[in-house]
Amino acid sequence: MEHTMEQRCLYDYNLAELTELLKGWGEPSFRARQLYRHLYVNLTASVERMTDLPATLRARLAELPLSTLRLERVQIGDAGLTRKALFRLPDGAVVETVLMVYPDRSTVCVSTQAGCGMGCVFCATGRLGLLRNLSSGEIVAQAIWASQELRAMNAAGPSGRVTNLVFMGMGEPFANYDRWWQAVERLHDPQGFNLGARSMTVSTVGLVKGIERLANERLPINLAISLHAPDDTLRSELMPVNRRYPIAELMAATRQYITKTRRRVSFEYVLLQGKNDHPHQAIALARLLRREASPGPMLVHVNLIPWNPVPGTPLGRSEWERVTAFQQILTDYGIPCTVRVERGVEIAAACGQLAGQTTLMVEMT
Ligand code: SAH
Ligand code: SF4
Repeated sequence: MEHTMEQRCLYDYNLAELTELLKGWGEPSFRARQLYRHLYVNLTASVERMTDLPATLRARLAELPLSTLRLERVQIGDAGLTRKALFRLPDGAVVETVLMVYPDRSTVCVSTQAGCGMGCVFCATGRLGLLRNLSSGEIVAQAIWASQELRAMNAAGPSGRVTNLVFMGMGEPFANYDRWWQAVERLHDPQGFNLGARSMTVSTVGLVKGIERLANERLPINLAISLHAPDDTLRSELMPVNRRYPIAELMAATRQYITKTRRRVSFEYVLLQGKNDHPHQAIALARLLRREASPGPMLVHVNLIPWNPVPGTPLGRSEWERVTAFQQILTDYGIPCTVRVERGVEIAAACGQLAGQTTLMVEMT
């Protein structure tokens, strides 16, 4: 079982743990399954509404919070198709979750930590520093919120439910590995939330130990690695983590991951005007990926991300011509490459803009 610091909530338990908990109260195991269905299939918003459970059990369950996330605000952008939730945790920390609805799918972007300790200079979350790790229940409950939101929106067709989940919100997932992985297992559970492993993607700043662990996990979730520079000097300037795990080590771990899993890895590359978007840097990136990550067929992909503004940084967003020129070079070198379509910029819900505005305001005063 996990952690002692935070208050536990019902979303911190998997089915086996709920069964144990209820068994201790003298309840048969089918009651735990009923409760689990309420939590992950029916998305029942309160214990009182689980009316098929006996009143005595409901009274007992009500002593534990259903979720420790308190929804403070939902901001809506992109004509209703992007929604950002701000949650307050019992200790005052805030986290954000973003729901993006597309014609054929709905993606939720989930946070794994309140703040982040990795200090990437281009990222709003990094500027907060690490407040704390989220519990598995706090991670899971964000996906539950997204599902409930979709249900309330009455979205029809495939986008009416969460079809994709990315761990690309606040925080570094591999710096909170155990709890994050418990959340993955729980969201995947076919008896519960039932989200396919291939529908989940984790993004890491490049913690090599986490990449090694992920290669040995039983669920084949997708891996994205934040690279952002083709050489160590620049990468260390942008991302302090590079001093601990320089590019050669990161690439060696990636190569092993690909060899072991036979799964494609995505590299994320945020484009910063005049910093990392020069044609010679595109060539260097293409050469690096060709050399390092292609023992057999090339199982890599590059996702170019036009930088989203973060107030108070001296950085600039690459002009569109530079983005397309960069993409063209990678394509010419045979590296599959896409440009990430933006969502939620006007409500500061885009990549790297999550900082929980309330917290920032407190910090500035
Ligand atoms: N900590 C993890 C996952 C969260 S960040 C990581 O760093 O990979 C998700 C992605 O958004 C990362 O690739 C990150 O580098 C990128 N990002 C951070 N700040 C950004 C910004 N201001 N504009 C665009 N992308 C940003
Ligand atoms: Fe943390 Fe990722 Fe932001 Fe870097 S980019 S500070 S690792 S959230």
